[in-house]
Amino acid sequence: MNNQNNIQRLVVLGAGESGVGTALLAKAKGYDVFVSDFGKITDKYTSILAEAGLAFEEEQHTEALILNADVVVKSPGIPDAVPIVKKIVSKRIPVISEIEFAVKYTKASVVGITGSNGKTTTTMLTGHVLSSGMEGVTMAGNIGDSFAKAVLDDQTNTFVLELSSFQLDGVEDFCPKIAILTNLSPDHLDRYEYSYDKYIAAKFRLIKNQTHNDYFIYDADDKDIQNYLKKHKPKAQCFPFSLEKELEQGVFIKNNHIVISMNNEQDIIISESSLSLKGRHNTKNAMAAAMSARLIGIRKQTIRESLTNFQGVEHRLEMVLKINNVQYINDSKATNVNATYFALEAVKTPVVWIVGGVDKGNDYSELYKLVNEKVKAIICLGVDNSRIVASFENCVDTIVETQSMQEAVKIAYALGERNDTVLLSPCCASFDLFKNYEDRGDQFKTAVHKL
Ligand code: ADP
Repeated sequence: MNNQNNIQRLVVLGAGESGVGTALLAKAKGYDVFVSDFGKITDKYTSILAEAGLAFEEEQHTEALILNADVVVKSPGIPDAVPIVKKIVSKRIPVISEIEFAVKYTKASVVGITGSNGKTTTTMLTGHVLSSGMEGVTMAGNIGDSFAKAVLDDQTNTFVLELSSFQLDGVEDFCPKIAILTNLSPDHLDRYEYSYDKYIAAKFRLIKNQTHNDYFIYDADDKDIQNYLKKHKPKAQCFPFSLEKELEQGVFIKNNHIVISMNNEQDIIISESSLSLKGRHNTKNAMAAAMSARLIGIRKQTIRESLTNFQGVEHRLEMVLKINNVQYINDSKATNVNATYFALEAVKTPVVWIVGGVDKGNDYSELYKLVNEKVKAIICLGVDNSRIVASFENCVDTIVETQSMQEAVKIAYALGERNDTVLLSPCCASFDLFKNYEDRGDQFKTAVHKL
């Protein structure tokens, strides 16, 4: 311990956006900071660390420099199971998340957004709606700057934070004024001892510290959320959203309009057809964004306008180009079955579907009905396509396999006819053939533009 002058030693594990942001904030707050990354640190972050005069190491964890910490902030990408974390825990050194650390240094209110799908879209929608109606809104977390870095910049009245389950794992005292849980479906279970319940519990850490002065917005149609809430009643005031039923308090659809019901009053916000983002899932995201904006006091007119002019998010049901009346859509971020389900549901024409990659144990049966109805051809784009072929060979006549995006797009072009849609919605992770989902989506767009 470095406490001769009562200076606390803070060690950051992992030097990505979250870790480097934490290190900068910690230095500004007077900690003795050390950053350790077991991998190679990218040039961008080594320069930031060096410029700030921060001590760091890469491609190793030097125990002598780590186990003398008063507190460790672990980046969300590092599992609890790695040896250095186990050693830190066995020494009873507190391990917290960046969110937990950074929130202590801001007085801004926080809208915290989590869920299995729709986090980024809902965060960007909410950020857009709020900043159309007020000053000082910052989006952070998994989007853009880390939360810690944004706290350091200190320009903010309201943070809109995208939070993954990994970020929530390290939460003890963090308490968002408004919490949004978009939905639940199994994902990242390898980090939760293959227990869906543990993953759900991590997501619900979002609302663990909320009180009756706070708000909780969630999908009332989601069975897993309903089941959890039957056993664990939230302390916050609940404003759920539903596509299926009218709610006494919350947000729902009535006569094809989004309606908010609160304080015994119903407010018609916007017609579904005016929303700039298409698809049922995006209607839900818009409901969550509108609800949070209303709770914060943004005017209805502003909410309506901003939901109409929102530009969409790259790689999420992104309209790329129409060629010979065939629409090409990039949904590369769909890395699980649930996300692809909503993509197939959103498309109203026959589909040539590009799918595949690293299968995280998918159960494709949820898609059978939509695939039967809409998909005329499947193009498998992965190193191992056997599970996709086996799952769909009885529903779709044409199944083609390839391992190159350029070829996949050429085949799609050959198969597509007037009024069809070519949809890249892979259901799978990307790292067998691509650097990441952005690379996959970018390669798709480049190939489409070359047609
Ligand atoms: P996340 O940040 O949670 O991964 P994104 O907003 O990046 O979510 O969207 C990921 C994928 O999920 C995209 O394919 C998108 O079209 C789809 N999606 C977006 N919102 C929802 C939702 N509410 N339910 C299901 N899928 C969704």
